[in-house]
Amino acid sequence: NNLIAHANEKIEMFNQGIVERNPAEYEFHQAVREFTESVIPFLMNHEKYSDGHILERMTEPDRIVIFRVCWENDEGHICCNRAWRVQFNNSIGPYKGGLRFHPNVSQGVLKFLGFEQVYKNALTGLPMGGAKGGSNFDPKGKSDREVMRFCQSLMTELSRHIGEDTDIPAGDIGVGAREISYLFGQYKRLNNRFVGTLTGKGLSFGGSLIRAEATGYGVVYFTQHVLHQHGQSFSDKTAVISGSGNVALFCAEKLIHLGVKVVTLSDSSGFIHDPDGIDLEKLHWLRELKFNKRGRISEYAQQFSTAKYYPDQRPWVIPGDMAFPCATQNELDLNDAKALVSNHILVVAEGANMPCTLEAVRFFEEKEVLFAPAKAANAGGVAVSGLEQSQNSQRFAWSREEVDERLQQIMAHIHKQCVEYGKGEGDTINYVNGANIGGFVKVAEAMLAYGI
Ligand code: GLU
Repeated sequence: NNLIAHANEKIEMFNQGIVERNPAEYEFHQAVREFTESVIPFLMNHEKYSDGHILERMTEPDRIVIFRVCWENDEGHICCNRAWRVQFNNSIGPYKGGLRFHPNVSQGVLKFLGFEQVYKNALTGLPMGGAKGGSNFDPKGKSDREVMRFCQSLMTELSRHIGEDTDIPAGDIGVGAREISYLFGQYKRLNNRFVGTLTGKGLSFGGSLIRAEATGYGVVYFTQHVLHQHGQSFSDKTAVISGSGNVALFCAEKLIHLGVKVVTLSDSSGFIHDPDGIDLEKLHWLRELKFNKRGRISEYAQQFSTAKYYPDQRPWVIPGDMAFPCATQNELDLNDAKALVSNHILVVAEGANMPCTLEAVRFFEEKEVLFAPAKAANAGGVAVSGLEQSQNSQRFAWSREEVDERLQQIMAHIHKQCVEYGKGEGDTINYVNGANIGGFVKVAEAMLAYGI
């Protein structure tokens, strides 16, 4: 008890310092708190790692590049946005992580994402450091040409800070195949070199098979391990999913393939509930709508009479055995967690980054809901990005089967680390501790080996 009190005191003191040094970066405070609640007690039992102010060093990014992005809209007006690249930690490999375009992007959001990326990437077992970047540019309602001009302008500055052995960006919210293509085209134009400095590229110019599917598939593979570990399986299970981007749609696809009934999907305006289940045909229609027509989820309920649309609501009130928050940070709060628990939720797996608030996660833990945190569960995307880099370096392309096989091995490896580092009393596994400590150990080993 004394030890717990001492650990809590250390956690409070450390996090107070974080808040003071990083004013108003709320998402970053949240991500560091979650991490240190796992790692500080571990450090107290493993003196080897507590040397050299390791946590202070880990919570300060290596550097942040901030720059202006000016572009001309279709009316001929000049528009200005701000962009960032947070190069957080390159101890175990070149910086790696996505770019996000969304009006709520801020330095605090990108620091939280960059921080989490470091440990997620470490868990994959691939040599990748962590970074994140993006802009407060809102792609919603913009024409293809406007998006192109914005991407070209952004890359004009970003290109001098990245490279195939220094920092390799990819997609995230608001940055998909279209944006990566414009960005890569401009990178190539500026540098006159055809190298894999971005991942998530089109298949005709160095992209990897399964990259688009990887995050969603990976979440499902990871969840399968979690269930298996607890004597459960996918059979006769129902899933509620939020989001309707890359992660959500391929998470749904893999679940449907494996016999799970998927009943919800959402976007920022509301969610659809299809009690009959979303089948592959409906999903295919939805993919066309979202990726090619850039439509809204409400249109699903107009197309399929089995479904109902709920504007301005989130899907967590719908009963299911498994919940997959695949939209964005803090989309599932304590009230949502209570609603899920009252409907006897068995497992919650994070497809998005930090979609559950700290209070929601604590409630799941208290109620013994199996909880798979993003760092572990959604690492499949960046893992296949790493495989795309390998293929680019080899100037070779692997088959679908080969990439999928490697993805499955990586998700199994991540699960194994969570079990190793997350073992609690009896047979219990705390996946939050497992992912945080597993990622921490690898990065800490490298940092300590380098000295100060
Ligand atoms: N944005 C994704 C993530 O959050 C993928 C990053 C990447 O592929 O580099 O992990």
